Amino acid sequence: MTNEENYWNDSLSEEVDADVFETERTCFNYKCNHCNTIFLSFADNKITKCIMCNEDDIKCSSSIESVNVFAIAFAKVLNDFINIYKKKIFWNPLVPIKFKRKKIIYSVSKVYLPAFLSNINQKGLIHFIGGEKETKEDKRVETKRYNVVERVYFDYNDILINTISKLDDKVFQTICDYDFSNLKEVDSSDDLEISYLVKDIDITDVSEKTRGRIAKQTISIAAQNVPHSLKKLKADETSITFANTKEVYVPIYLLNVKYKNKLYQCIMNGQNGKFHFDIPIGIIETIIFSLIIFCLVFLISFLIVYFL
Ligand SMILES: [Zn+2]
Repeated sequence: MTNEENYWNDSLSEEVDADVFETERTCFNYKCNHCNTIFLSFADNKITKCIMCNEDDIKCSSSIESVNVFAIAFAKVLNDFINIYKKKIFWNPLVPIKFKRKKIIYSVSKVYLPAFLSNINQKGLIHFIGGEKETKEDKRVETKRYNVVERVYFDYNDILINTISKLDDKVFQTICDYDFSNLKEVDSSDDLEISYLVKDIDITDVSEKTRGRIAKQTISIAAQNVPHSLKKLKADETSITFANTKEVYVPIYLLNVKYKNKLYQCIMNGQNGKFHFDIPIGIIETIIFSLIIFCLVFLISFLIVYFL
């Protein structure tokens, strides 16, 4: 939210200059002293709790910022989140009653999450050990091993990379299948309810992380070409390069519930409604629910035997 160089890498900045028009508003910067998350809001009413950890130890300062970002618009509304929350948590008999009693359902944050959108190329050599089982004349089974080298050259387009360290990558991946054809320049003065998380991971720091994510796919495809029944990865000598990397903002609904000193994260994709909810399971509730089911099954079986 500083200037357009932040949204696009250097190679693309020239293209963007022509399109960017800037609006200036008072921007409120919040820093959480508990988890170090920084987020911005353009709403005048003060936010009192951190949108990531729900603690109230946050500091606010204001500045004037340009508010144009490249983002995917929200297609889901707050009620969509609340309906899923009720279905998955409120009506779930295994969720502890104390957890349900927390009146947090309406403190859901509408958030733009910064991420890198990038095309990634992976190329190089992957070494496998292939194996074939052979039955000898004396019926002994021996495994014959072969060294197999696969040369790969793969292009992955529109890979979205999380730049918020507080958000678990595995969680992010379960909800991040956005449709980027709707990516456009958004003026955040349109919707003051939205908070903007500020990235705390740089593209250079996420390169290894991203490599791990796409390498799995590359290796499994390359392994299909190994002409042996047994195959094992020996060494990965590939390199990856990023191209057309740009900073984009993707819409999410975020709710963090603190319960028994643990943070339960409920997150929903604001474009397609895909969600991931961390749900606590209560021991007492599980026992009671199991007993009810047992009694019901017992009663029905008894009635069937008695009346038939
Ligand atoms: Zn925090």
